[in-house]
Amino acid sequence: MHYDVIIIGAGPGGIYSAYELSRLRPDLKVAVFEAGHALEKRRCPIDGDKIKACIGCKTCSIMSGFGGAGAFSDGKYNITNDFGGTLYEYIGKQRAIELMKYVDEINMAYGGAGTKLYSTAGTKFKKICIQNDLHLLDASVRHLGTDINYVVLENLFAYLRDKVSFFFDTPVESVEALQPGFRVILDGQTHTCDKCIISVGRSGSKWMESVCKQMEIPTRSNRVDLGVRVELPAEVFSHITDELYESKLVYRTPKYEDLVRTFCMNPRGVVVNENTNGIITVNGHSYEDPAKQTGNTNFALLVAKHFSEPFKDSNGYGESIARLRNMLGGGVIVQRFGDLIRGQRSTPKRIEESFVTPTLNATPGDLSLALPKRILDGIIEMIYALDKVAPGTANDDTLLYGVEVKFYNMEVEVNDKLQAKYDDLYIIGDGSGITHSLSHASASGVHVARNIAGQ
Ligand SMILES: Cc1cc2nc3c(=O)[nH]c(=O)nc-3n(C[C@H](O)[C@H](O)[C@H](O)COP(=O)(O)OP(=O)(O)OC[C@H]3O[C@@H](n4cnc5c(N)ncnc54)[C@H](O)[C@@H]3O)c2cc1C
Repeated sequence: MHYDVIIIGAGPGGIYSAYELSRLRPDLKVAVFEAGHALEKRRCPIDGDKIKACIGCKTCSIMSGFGGAGAFSDGKYNITNDFGGTLYEYIGKQRAIELMKYVDEINMAYGGAGTKLYSTAGTKFKKICIQNDLHLLDASVRHLGTDINYVVLENLFAYLRDKVSFFFDTPVESVEALQPGFRVILDGQTHTCDKCIISVGRSGSKWMESVCKQMEIPTRSNRVDLGVRVELPAEVFSHITDELYESKLVYRTPKYEDLVRTFCMNPRGVVVNENTNGIITVNGHSYEDPAKQTGNTNFALLVAKHFSEPFKDSNGYGESIARLRNMLGGGVIVQRFGDLIRGQRSTPKRIEESFVTPTLNATPGDLSLALPKRILDGIIEMIYALDKVAPGTANDDTLLYGVEVKFYNMEVEVNDKLQAKYDDLYIIGDGSGITHSLSHASASGVHVARNIAGQ
């Protein structure tokens, strides 16, 4: 079958490319190939009862399928150039913000209307942070919540399904340049297209690497973020989360001068497993519906590790640490902050007696056996710094889940149109290494669609 445009991956990057193409060029024949399931078939088998931990499904329903890694996410669309990716370096700051706002308008039109838009503009909290050597990054945050985010995806699919051909459970094996056009190879089938948009996200990082190697597309990679997910009573952070919802706080540790930051804050949310290429790490999300909320708030504390020559395999480093932790705990480890400070493992009894009830069924253990000292020292220093602006953060019963790893896809060399080497090959979203968030990935999709549509 020949298509005008083939999109690989139906995460936010792929969905917004398809949306904008269908709007601007309804005459084009567009196909989307997605490795995971259709939205309604996506279900993680962990039920907390019969299946308590990740069983390593062939395609992870949390990470793959219509909606991509974002489908069961917290649906926090951060409208900012300060974090979430470096899209602005390619398309300019103003255009990046314009596109993120445009994506927000679509989300509102497709079911998100009525959800809150938070902003750091004019907050008094910024001053309190600086007085304590913590730095609050600027952003507007649209919080859809996992429930409304799902509704928006359902509505977008209902709009797109007659305009675009979707193929689920269809992982693309390889892409070949025909000059002009491309050949897209699937299990026993071959399709061709004039233009190809690759948007395979984090779960497609290994595949993306092999495609770049095979098509001789230059890449670079030197970063991985390592840390823990913190879970504590929602009251500890409520003065911040009620006003800002998500606060991105950065701290330079006195000992190593490493930067530690808060990431993905989920007020009254839950901690969940994440499976990236078979490696179980930890993440979190929360619901807009008060009935589904919990008494706990969770967020990640991450230390960015940049490597210099000759070491190149930053993701391999992160994976080794996650595997070590998987080996010790059979999955995610949970430890009370007080136990970590006293140099003792958390036991099931200590967790049971804790005043904070974990929202994820994880193995009580000792994170200091899995995380490098430098990373752990940075996290401990950050927890004491946060305790000054949110007293209670450093309480004994604060729970730490580990490890949380943010793998960065190697950065693919693309131009301002997000074209890689071949004029009609676009590499976007988290799979390009340029974006790391819902809003940036979605904006990159709109950007390439407009380019293809000649706008
Ligand atoms: C639990 C969780 C919570 C999150 N919360 C937030 C949040 O609140 N705010 C935020 O900004 N970000 C959040 N994120 C990150 C966010 O989901 C991603 O940044 C975003 O989804 C990236 O979009 P994408 O389209 O680039 O890639 P993805 O969403 O990863 O989509 C890529 C798609 O490509 C498919 N694919 C991969 N390889 C192939 C192949 N060979 N053939 C066909 N298809 C393939 C995958 O199955 C996947 O569906 C969260 C992530 C997780 C896991």
